[in-house]
Amino acid sequence: MGDYFQTIVDLDATERDAQELGARVLDWLIAQGIVNAERTDCVLDGDGYGHEPGPHFAKAVDDPEPVDLWSNGLHVQTGRTVFDSGQGDAGAATCPLCLTEIRLVDETWQPIESAWAPFQGRFHDWAEQGGEGIVHCPSCARPSGIDRWSWEDDYYACGQLGFTFWGWAELSSGFTREVGRKLGGHRTAVLRGKL
Ligand SMILES: [Zn+2]
Repeated sequence: MGDYFQTIVDLDATERDAQELGARVLDWLIAQGIVNAERTDCVLDGDGYGHEPGPHFAKAVDDPEPVDLWSNGLHVQTGRTVFDSGQGDAGAATCPLCLTEIRLVDETWQPIESAWAPFQGRFHDWAEQGGEGIVHCPSCARPSGIDRWSWEDDYYACGQLGFTFWGWAELSSGFTREVGRKLGGHRTAVLRGKL
């Protein structure tokens, strides 16, 4: 079995405010006792250091199970990042302009190469080159940045700020909404995956 993670991605944070927003939410999580203030070796991304669950971590989840994996921390990631759900593939992408859903896998869940063609290299362009990652929609032919597309089951999310919880029980919708409020009402995506 793999290591389970959930990432709340802020879809509206900018390069300029991501750091401050991340610090604000982290301060709130610490004040609530949901995570501990000190950073320890407890996550599987970034530099391996994150925040362990605090005494009141159960406030964040519906069905609190004892958290006993060593990789059970929170990692706050800032800067241009393509967040993804680890194993598997994205089922479909939706154009931000015409809202057409482009299927990306066939009935046996194999990636459809021709469907992926307009997206090829665009994540790299956006995340690594600082470009816009322009995708021309196969349906309406209009261009838009890859970061504006949405993905089935939030498989991907492009953002400047993400909160990854390693090994936690399912975060409650009330909790993720509250995080959105602390982010100034920003839109969020919640990715769930395994490594
Ligand atoms: Zn379109």
